Formats: sequence, structure tokens, C-alpha cells
Amino acid sequence: MQSAKTVHASKESLNPFEIVQKQIDSAASILQLPSSITKILKKPKRVISVSFPVKMDDGTIEVFDGYRSQHNDASGPTKGGIRFHPDVDIDEVKALSMWMTFKCQVVGLPYGGGKGGVVCDPHHYSTSELERISRGFMEAIADVVGPETDIPAPDVYTTPQIMGWMMDTYSRLKGTYSPGVITGKPLSIGGSKGRSSATATGCVYTIREAMKDLGLPMEGATVAIQGFGNAGRISALLLAELGCKIVAVCDTKGGIYHPDGLDVDTLCRLKDETSIMEYPEKQVIGGDQLLKLDVDILIPAALENVITSENADKIKAKIIAEAANGPTTPYADEVLKERGVIVIPDILANAGGVTVSYFEWVQNQMHFYWTEKEINERLEQIMVTAYREVADISKEYQVDMRNGAFIIAIKKLAETMEARGWI
Ligand code: NAD
Repeated sequence: MQSAKTVHASKESLNPFEIVQKQIDSAASILQLPSSITKILKKPKRVISVSFPVKMDDGTIEVFDGYRSQHNDASGPTKGGIRFHPDVDIDEVKALSMWMTFKCQVVGLPYGGGKGGVVCDPHHYSTSELERISRGFMEAIADVVGPETDIPAPDVYTTPQIMGWMMDTYSRLKGTYSPGVITGKPLSIGGSKGRSSATATGCVYTIREAMKDLGLPMEGATVAIQGFGNAGRISALLLAELGCKIVAVCDTKGGIYHPDGLDVDTLCRLKDETSIMEYPEKQVIGGDQLLKLDVDILIPAALENVITSENADKIKAKIIAEAANGPTTPYADEVLKERGVIVIPDILANAGGVTVSYFEWVQNQMHFYWTEKEINERLEQIMVTAYREVADISKEYQVDMRNGAFIIAIKKLAETMEARGWI
């Protein structure tokens, strides 16, 4: 099975869906689980594929393709983002929904995993076209999502405004104000304080714990970040506040490096105004070069399959914190483990996003809103507990943290599915 996202590295040829299946097999074989459990977990319960017409500003009609995958709802409604990207495909959406199931279990949320995507590059459309694409996709999936069934959120190239349009479309279709159908909304329509920074905040908590375990100070630690969007740039800001030196960042326009550190506020301003490539004193580097820099902390915060058999043996970072979903292939995982690199896996490192999405949903259901302090305290407690549980179980089973996180998630899911009589 090949898709646009298949890794074409010398020693591997897997797409994200095959990769997550391999990760399930790996943890299940350590736990010696019966195949009935893995058979259920290796496929999403429901995947829908939609095509919907949208009128462009010039009066022409374009037809967009989109998907929504709902992996496993044993623990509660499915939950997960919607991505707008030209490379979205069905296997990627399936894989991302599966990682969401395991992620929710790792941080103890009463959710299963979902994910959606529309094949499009939002940079090519006007705001009004983007609004019609967003509303069109929600209309196409409205029958399978809902506050008690499947709750979308933002992901790559989707924003709080897009969530707002989608919530409005759903509410109109159902004839009832339904803020709980989607999270990551603007604050004025039931968004949560702390949601936009939640993924990065959670990621930074896990990095802080890993640095403590290695006996390394945050002050002066060097950091390279691939991707400078929601997850990447807010991680840069938070790590700089903790005294880390952000020495390299990159996005689709290219990468920049300075051994003395880059000024993150300037980077953010340039990203909004023009491009990070306008940064004054820097060395221009490629994305792959960034991954191989001699830094303490490497944060992949863009797309899948960037750390592969082609570069894993050249990575010099001590810690890789996977803000992105699926950045590391199973082959690369093995190489990194042998070389003693700590990988904080995506289903732990970026779980802060869905955790505060859960807080948003709870607030929407209660119509009672929390302060930013309450959100951040609860987030920190959940992330630090989850990190410790994963670190402890990894030690107990003598496995890397990805296997540790999958072991925790699969054990919980097996118990839940058994209690419901599924196995
Ligand atoms: P975003 O759209 O805000 O930013 C994506 C960034 O990646 C942009 O700066 C873009 O230029 C850059 N990028 C894209 N392709 C690239 C490439 N090939 N090389 C270098 N940079 C590239 O998206 P985001 O929300 O920050 O998501 C990034 C990753 O984090 C994704 O894997 C997403 O699934 C994951 N994630 C996001 C959240 C969230 O709450 N936003 C939660 C969990 C996980």
C-alpha cells in the first residue's frame, strides 16, 4: 500500500497507517496480548470520504475531497483535529486518528481518537473561499460528528476562525447552539483560555521532565525546531522564557541557524509579516541539516516521517520531543534507541493540545468557564503525571518511551473493551 506520505528511505517503505500498525504490534508483543485486541486496534471503526462543491470568488466551482476517521470509541466520543493540506490522504487521516486514541489514553482522557482532513492548500484561497470550504466540509461530515460522538479541533493549517465557522455551520444544521461539537474555537464562542498555547506548553513540560532525568539544566540548553506554526513557534517562545537558546528553526520557506541563539520575538514578528528567512544575522540551512545539528533538544513540529533510516544515525540531539504527529519511523526509533537518544513520543509530547481541548469541551458542556491559571495548573499536573508514568513503565519493561506510552494506552484500552464486552 503506497500513499503520498510513504517513507521512501533506503531501508523502509511505510506509510503512516502502516507505521502505527507496526507500533501497535510492537507494544502488543511486549505485553503478549491476544490477537483479538490488536485486530480491533489496528483498524479504525469508521472512515468516511466526502467530496463537496465550493463556489470560488470568481464564480467557478471547485470540488474538494476530505476524510474523517473515527478509530476507537471504547472510552468515549472520538476526538481529533482537522488538517487542511495538499498532501492529506486517507491513510494519513486513519493513522492520525489512531495516534489520537492512544494519546487520549496516555493522558487519561475519556475519549477515543478521530481525525479529519481536506485536500487543499489554504494559502491559495481568499478568506471568504476558506470560509466556504470550512463550512462545506462541516456540512459534509455533520451527520457523523457531534458533542457526544466525534469532536474535531484544529491541526495543520486550520485555525480558531475555521473552528468558529464549522461550529456555526453545525449549530445551524442541528438548530441548536452546539459549542461542544468542536474545540480550538475563538474565546468569544466558547473557546478555552490556554488552548492555543496548550500543545507547546504540554510539550515543554515533558522536555523539562526529560532534562531533569538527564540531570541537564534548561538554562542555556540548545534547541532546534522544525516547523514554526502553532506547535513550533510557541514551543520556541516558552523555551526561550526558560533560558534555552533557540539556535535553529525552519518552515516551508527554509531554515536559519545561529550558534549564539535566535531572538524568538523577532522570528515571530517576521513570520507574521514576511518570512523567517528575513532574519538579519543567520546562516541559511536546509530542513534536513536542521535535524542533524548538535543540540540538546530537537523538536520536530511540522509533518510525519522526517526522522528516517536516511538521517537517524546522524542525529546528535540528546532529546527529541515530538510536537508533530508521527515524525519518526520505526526503523529510526531503533537506531535512536541504540544511540541513547531520548525520544518523547508524539502521543505523550503533544498531548497538551487534546488535554486543553478536553477542558474546552467540559466547559462547553457545563457552560461554566475556568481561569487560565486553573487550565494551566490542570494541564501541568496531567502532563507531568503522564510523563512519569511513561518513564516508569519504559524502565520497568526496558523499552523506549514510545513502546512505554503504547503499553500504557493499550493496557487501558484492553481493559475498557473487555468491560464493554467487545473482547
Ligand atoms: P501549523 O499549521 O500551525 O504549522 C505548521 C508549520 O510547519 C508551519 O510553520 C509550516 O510552514 C511548517 N511546515 C510545513 N511543512 C514543512 C516542512 N516540510 N518543513 C518544515 N516546516 C514545514 O500546524 P501545527 O498545529 O503547529 O501542527 C504541527 C504539527 O503538530 C502537526 O504534526 C500536528 O498534527 C501536530 N499537533 C498540533 C496540535 C495543535 O494543537 N495544533 C496538537 C497536537 C499535535
